Amino acid sequence: MFSSVIIPAAGFGERMGAAIGKQFLLLDDKPILVHTLERFEQCADISEIIVATQPSSFSIIEEIKEKFLLTKLKPPVEGGQRRQDSVANALHAVDSRAEIIAVHDAVRPFVHLREISQSIETAKYFGASIVAVRSKDTMKQASTDGRVEKTLNRSSLWSVQTPQTFQRKILIEAYAHAQKHGIVATDDSFLAEQIGVLPIIVEGSYENIKITTPDDLLLAELLLKRFLP
Ligand code: C5P
Repeated sequence: MFSSVIIPAAGFGERMGAAIGKQFLLLDDKPILVHTLERFEQCADISEIIVATQPSSFSIIEEIKEKFLLTKLKPPVEGGQRRQDSVANALHAVDSRAEIIAVHDAVRPFVHLREISQSIETAKYFGASIVAVRSKDTMKQASTDGRVEKTLNRSSLWSVQTPQTFQRKILIEAYAHAQKHGIVATDDSFLAEQIGVLPIIVEGSYENIKITTPDDLLLAELLLKRFLP
């Protein structure tokens, strides 16, 4: 089965406070994006990798492909204003043979191969899947002025990560529907939910962090020591 992964990597990393997008910051000796790409290169269930990024970074992607022998990496596509726009652009570049499309944040380098494979297998049978972990904290819902409105039932709450994986037709329909109705989301699952597809959760690991702020980078350096063989 042909499966593609879209890696949105067009963020500017404002919350990191760095001059370059956080996906290009070095972790150990390689850009964060390279660590992420290597996970998908190593996963036998992935056939091609499509990165969406700023045109000014296209040459970096080409260099990375050669230097790190990323055979599955296709030419980059232009990212958009929001993450959702970057994924939408990349969808046009997906190989026509793809039956499954996964979407994974460029800044989550600690995804395990098991999580990628399970998310593909689950999407194949159930239409859509998301990798998530059980909420460790008690969660409260509050008003905009900070007053607690209610305590949510922790046993039913999950923190959602990526990959989020879909049968091709579902993801394309979800994005077309979002565009038509002006729906904006921070994850792909929400767009699928809007067309009545309810993804199945694949339980992931707390290591699969999204590197967003300088604190995350410190944690990532520690995690890398554990993660590398
Ligand atoms: O901003 P956020 O942390 O949600 O970004 C998640 C991922 O989406 C990152 O890999 C980032 O590079 C990517 N992104 C993108 N296009 C944007 C904004 C974010 O591809 N316009």
